[in-house]
Amino acid sequence: MSHEFDLIERIRGQVGRSSRVKVGIGDDAAVLDWSQHPECLVTVDMLMEGIDFTLDSATPEQIGRKALAVNLSDIAAMAGRPTACVVAVALPRRGGFELGQRLMAGLLPLAQEFDVALAGGDTNTWEGPLVLSITVLGEPTGRGPVLRSGARPGDWIFVTGPLGGSLSGHHLDFTPRIREAQALHAATTLHSLIDISDGLAADLGHILQESRVGALLEAEAIPIAPAATGMSRRDGQSPLRHALADGEDFELILTVSPQEGERLLAKPPQGVTLYWIGQVTETAGLSLKQPDGKLESLSDWGWKHGFRDQ
Ligand code: ADP
Ligand code: MG
Repeated sequence: MSHEFDLIERIRGQVGRSSRVKVGIGDDAAVLDWSQHPECLVTVDMLMEGIDFTLDSATPEQIGRKALAVNLSDIAAMAGRPTACVVAVALPRRGGFELGQRLMAGLLPLAQEFDVALAGGDTNTWEGPLVLSITVLGEPTGRGPVLRSGARPGDWIFVTGPLGGSLSGHHLDFTPRIREAQALHAATTLHSLIDISDGLAADLGHILQESRVGALLEAEAIPIAPAATGMSRRDGQSPLRHALADGEDFELILTVSPQEGERLLAKPPQGVTLYWIGQVTETAGLSLKQPDGKLESLSDWGWKHGFRDQ
């Protein structure tokens, strides 16, 4: 019978050296070189079989990749640079050894692409389903981390890509917007920034709440992904509604002053696509303006993990 240490040894053999990791897999804790930076970004995300994925609709490689990608997206949402990660995994006893290797086979190429060192982790087995939690460490870039709380009335609101229908496949192969966030941070003064995990309306709502402002979106300006149109044909919800409410697109929402917005639209940083979608308002609440001028309230949209009373 194989056990956790066989798997850890395999993983250890696949991890390259990194100048930032002085001690990596194999000791009680990793030792990282953080001498160049006064601040450390830390983020953790947990994926659970049955909630965030099912093993019959996604390959283990896709799940391993996604588990890291969602964390990298959170670092992007601070305009940071990811440095290292640690991986905690609860593997089902039956088939877990192979499953663990396949998760890593999906995760490691993405880690390499973004120069993220796998510095350690924890490997458990049980009779339950697959649970995979990754913590990513990173560092701020440019003038420091960009928060949710900096949006100001009058700001222009942008997103970095078309939205909606991600659950039909894009949620498994998206590229975290690390490069785009850094390019934007270098090119302009970002007032606020967030990644779209819960849906445009819900995540913009987080910016609005933290910044104590509201926003007015233009229905016609919301970029709609082809997948949203495809899903609309199947479920009868409008493509626009999918673009506003669906989660897991992992594009960025940013707000900047109108002057900077105009400048960015005229000449976006290289490799960055920007869609203007509306403006921040002094009055609280999130509204959508239809082409005929009608306003619809979008407050309270989006996915939330729920609790049961009993
Ligand atoms: P300890 O019992 O001291 O917590 P473990 O036996 O859990 O240590 O882990 C041994 C080493 O292997 C540690 O350095 C840990 O960080 C690393 N490790 C365990 N699981 C993983 C994993 N899935 N990916 C990467 N490193 C791992
Ligand atoms: Mg120990």
